Amino acid sequence: MKKTIQQINQNIKEGKATALTAEEVTQLVMEGEKPTAEDIDVVTTGTCGIMSGTAAIFHIPVAEPGTFKKAKSILLNGVPGFPGPCPNEWLGSVDLMIYGTAHSINESQYGGGFLFKDLVSGKEIEIKAEDFEGNIIKSTATLEDFGTAQMIGTRSAFKNYTAFVNPSSESVTSIFNAVEMDGPFKGITFSGCGELNPLQNDPQLNSIHKGSRLLINNSEGLFIGTGTRSTPEKPNMMITADMKEMDPHYIGGFRTGAGPEVYNSVATAIPVLDDTILKHTFIKNEDIPLPIADISGRHSVLSQTSYGVWRDVDERPSYEESLCQRCETCLVEDRCPTKAFQNHELNQTRCFGCGMCAYSCPFGSFQMETGTVSMNWKGETKTLDVSCRQSDIKRARELAYELKNKIINGEFIVG
Ligand code: SF4
Ligand code: SF4
Repeated sequence: MKKTIQQINQNIKEGKATALTAEEVTQLVMEGEKPTAEDIDVVTTGTCGIMSGTAAIFHIPVAEPGTFKKAKSILLNGVPGFPGPCPNEWLGSVDLMIYGTAHSINESQYGGGFLFKDLVSGKEIEIKAEDFEGNIIKSTATLEDFGTAQMIGTRSAFKNYTAFVNPSSESVTSIFNAVEMDGPFKGITFSGCGELNPLQNDPQLNSIHKGSRLLINNSEGLFIGTGTRSTPEKPNMMITADMKEMDPHYIGGFRTGAGPEVYNSVATAIPVLDDTILKHTFIKNEDIPLPIADISGRHSVLSQTSYGVWRDVDERPSYEESLCQRCETCLVEDRCPTKAFQNHELNQTRCFGCGMCAYSCPFGSFQMETGTVSMNWKGETKTLDVSCRQSDIKRARELAYELKNKIINGEFIVG
């Protein structure tokens, strides 16, 4: 059976569309069902994780027009941006770009991702600009005061990723782990949401094309094209959306061993035009390869596992306060990449489900099933605990459901 985008959108507008998330489709297939294009109009996908290629383009009024000629440098909450390209001569405002990976000059654990979350949450931020004459211009603003706040993901939501281990006895600093990764073989870290991942369900980009609508942090945005470093085997997406429409739940800062990063959530809609498109969404975690590489050097693949690492694991930790020993230095507070555990309180809304707390607390006050991975190393089988997940399956599921519901309610047109 073949359908057109127009027919699917007509169904959506009339409130008659059938939409399922990619996980729901996979579940049906695992239960022995054989869904066809006749049964399903749209499959929604989702992912949430560290997206290092994220930047924001802002236009910010900082002073009265005529106050200064042109900004040379600018800091937002201590995070450096790049003024321009437009000089805004004598306008009292600054156009700038700021990276999600930028580090604050004042606070080592704060950076672009945390700044974006603060802005999208409506918090007031401090602005410090310097013009070419050396004058300092200070002001404060919220996102509402910004003329423009457009996010661009230059390489987002890779189809699949690599897992990392440290086979050496030296600790390794990397963006691929929340803290320095201990070795030898003290755990395994990975990214990607497996069978729910957007491009895993549309690997040849049959249904996503330039101009396709999608959700970025629950703001309706666009697919601009394939992102930097995208290849046919490992594609990723270049995407954009208005930050003023974003939901702070889906965006945030994440501290890695190499400094602060940004995480985003992305959901796409796959219009099911025929059975071939639908069949791509049958893929299950166990069939998606996940190479295991040495975290040092990144490219030496040591073994293979699969995205079956997401099967039967916990989305979130539980904290048993009675077991907490109130250690002088709390390793969880020290290591939690989203600052979800502060002053012996777990803030579930900040939690990302990475698992670092359960891996780190020596007294078991944090419990979380993150699974294990077995790998062969020099003729020996090693079983490693998943110590850090740099993707959040819970937020990915929530956004895929959000998009599904928008389609069912006639609020999101595909194509
Ligand atoms: S490391 Fe564990 S036991 Fe110690 S203070 Fe932190 S949560 Fe409590
Ligand atoms: S899983 Fe634990 S370490 Fe990770 S964000 Fe949540 S509270 Fe922090």
